[in-house]
Order: sequence, then structure tokens, then C-alpha cells
Amino acid sequence: MQFDLVINNATLVEPSSDLLTLANIGIKDEKVAVVTRGELEGQKVIDADLKVVCPGFIDIHSHVDNYQYGGMLYAMQGITTTVGGNCGLSPVGPKQFFQEMSETGFPINQGQLVGHSFSMRTEAGLTDVYAPASADQIEAMTRRLEKGLEEGALGLSLGLEYAPGSSFEEIRELSKIAALYNKPVAIHTRYDSWRGLEAIHEVIRLARETGASIQVAHLAYMVGMGMMTEALNMIADARREGLDITADSGLYSAFATFIGSAVFDPGCLEKWGIDYSDFYVSTGPFAGRQCDQPLFEKLRQDEPDTVIVAFAGRDSEVLEALSAYFVMVSTDGCVGSPEPGSGHPQDSGTYPRFFRLMVRETGILTLLQAVKKCTLLPAQRLGLTDKGHLRPGADADLVIFDLKEIRDNSDYPGLGKPDAPPSGIDYVIVNGAPVVEKGVFVRDSKPGKPVTLPNKIWEL
Ligand SMILES: [Zn+2]
Repeated sequence: MQFDLVINNATLVEPSSDLLTLANIGIKDEKVAVVTRGELEGQKVIDADLKVVCPGFIDIHSHVDNYQYGGMLYAMQGITTTVGGNCGLSPVGPKQFFQEMSETGFPINQGQLVGHSFSMRTEAGLTDVYAPASADQIEAMTRRLEKGLEEGALGLSLGLEYAPGSSFEEIRELSKIAALYNKPVAIHTRYDSWRGLEAIHEVIRLARETGASIQVAHLAYMVGMGMMTEALNMIADARREGLDITADSGLYSAFATFIGSAVFDPGCLEKWGIDYSDFYVSTGPFAGRQCDQPLFEKLRQDEPDTVIVAFAGRDSEVLEALSAYFVMVSTDGCVGSPEPGSGHPQDSGTYPRFFRLMVRETGILTLLQAVKKCTLLPAQRLGLTDKGHLRPGADADLVIFDLKEIRDNSDYPGLGKPDAPPSGIDYVIVNGAPVVEKGVFVRDSKPGKPVTLPNKIWEL
């Protein structure tokens, strides 16, 4: 049999069978066709030279949302699938989103969530983020959510810190719909830092009262300010109770978001114990500038969509978050679609940084554990059965990297290049087609596909 693509001499890391072994892989019709020690013939042959070959990384939390430059940065850090529409922000409905994606093409696969706090609330006529929705507005939002899920969305996203007026009833009614469709609810929780645990308590109550599966978003950015141990304990206890709660985290302790949002309401400096000089501008004409009070106030007033990076968290709590067995890796990247040269180092460095820090340099995780957190765990959370593993029949999304060489080269705006590509990733294959070859992005390669799921609703 002649394969479309053969990868020889792989150190295969197969997370669904806990396997780390030497193998050759045959790919045909965009799928993994065979994994063997026997010889294979292919139209195209890659010699992995005993480097790591594993499923492509699945980023469960991003804001790439069809942004082409972001798609390239993501491909170069080994991501083959990313999920947008997070934090309650999904600019267009899934149908329109996937239509735009197929018209322009995209380097990697994308799934979408239906966003509540920015998107559905605005559509329902709510202009005040501090106001709760009326009964009619809740009803309108549940219909909008049902439509989005019918159009192929992978779940619901809430960004409660951005819409502090959201009532518990409002998010309970929406989460019940997600549970009915058996799709997860991704939550940027209501409070960070000192009130972060109160917000985790709300998440647990939501799971208990609705039966929804919940993904707590970017843990390091919510509770990595001294509250991580207790937050992880609370989630672990809830899981022991039988609630389906998992979480994700990036590799950085300084988060990036819109300067005009409620996150930066008065009192935030005192809450985080930092100063204006701990903010760096991430996007727009002032990108790279360290803030002072006048610049902060000017941008918050005049350019509220400017993204800034806030040094509010602790590095040690990032590693702590990612050590927990129910926490997977995510980027939270490309907030505000940053132009080349701007952004946050997570946009290009998250996954290489994870393998460098947590496997090679500290040994906190084994290679197999680390691969699982980037592949199988997010696939299971999203209900994707053809991704996250490399058994025959899997989608041919995979990455080839050198564990001795893999590293992030990006740094925070003002301190380095936020979008510097990583080192040590040789090949990234999406649906059987290389998007990165010998460490270089393949220009105009757009094999990415929409990631949707059929709906399985209990007929009563
Ligand atoms: Zn968020």
C-alpha cells in the first residue's frame, strides 16, 4: 500500500494507550492509517530521526477566531486545533464563522464556543455590563445558544468578570441548555485573586444545579495570586463528589486583556497589590510601552479595546496549576488580534515553554503526562474522538519535536518579542498536510477544518 505521507523513526508518544515507543506512521486520506515497526512506502517520507512524534496540540482556550497571523503563530508552536469564542466573546455565530473560515482557509483546525458575556448579552439588548438580564432577555439568550449549538458550536463560554451584573439565574438557565446538548461550559470566573475562591464556589454550585460539564478557564490568571492551592483543592473535592469539572492554564503569570473592561475597574491595583508600572501596553500604537497613571487613564478612556498585560500573578503558581491531573494546557492567546511585533508571549510560546519548563528543566511531568495535557485531555473535554490520539483512524494532526531543543523565544511586550517563534519544532501536520516543515511555516498552507460535533439530545 502506498501512503500519502510516511513518518519513519518516530519516538511515538500515544497518550490514549500510555505508549512511548519507536514506530513508523502511515497517513492516508487525512487520517492515521497504520502505526507499525514494519517498513512503509509513501508519496512523501519524513525521517523523524527518533524525535518525539505525538498528536497535534489542542488549545482549548484561545481568541484566535479566524485571525490569520495568529493561525500561523499557533501552527509554529505545534497547535493543530484551537477553540475560539472564549471568555464570553464570540464575534459571530458559528455558521458565519465556519463559512468565513472555509472561504479564506486557515492553517489549523478551529472549533467555536457561543459567548455569553460580550456577545449574547449584546445581542439580547444589554448595554450595561453591571445590569442583570431580564426574564425576556434570558429567554432570548437561551434561544441564541440553542441556535449556536445546532450550528456546530462545541459549547458555551462565560466571561463573568467582564459582565459582573450577570445573575446566577442567567448563567444557570444557559448552562442547563449546554447540559441538555451534552456540551461543556467554559468559564472565565466572576472574580480573580482574593475573591477567586468565591468564584470557584459559584462554578461548583453551577455544576451541581445544572449537571453541566465545566471547564474553568486560565487558572493561573484567576487564582495564581496566592489562591492556587485552595482553588485546586476545591475543584478536586468537587470532582470527588462526582461533578464534571476540569480546568486549563497557560504558562505565564501576567495576563492580557482589554483596558476598558471591568477587569480594570477602580480597586484592581489594590486587589493585586501592584502599581501602574506593572501594566505594559500589548496592542495598538503604544504597544511595548510601560504604563504610568496618565497613559493608563488615557487609554482606558479613549481606546478601551487596547489590550494591556498585567503582572499580577506568581510564576510558581503556574507550575502548581499545571501539575494537577485535571488541568490541561491552553494559550488564552491572540486577545485583540495583535499586529506582528505586538501581543503577549503566550501567542507563540505557550506549548514550547510547557515542555521546556515542566518536562526538560524541572521534570515535574513525564513526557507522556505532558503530552496528555496538550492532546488527549482537551479532546476528551470537548468530546472529540478522532483527535488527541494517534491510533489508526485518528485525524492526521501531529507534531514532531526535539525534546532536547524545544523552547519558547517570545517575551512580554517592552521586554522582548511577543511573537518570536519557538525552536525545536520540526514538523506540524494538519489533516495530513505539513504547515511547518523543517521548522519553517509553509506559506499559504491552509489545511485547517472546522471542528464541530453532531448534537445528541435526549429525546424525552
Ligand atoms: Zn478569559
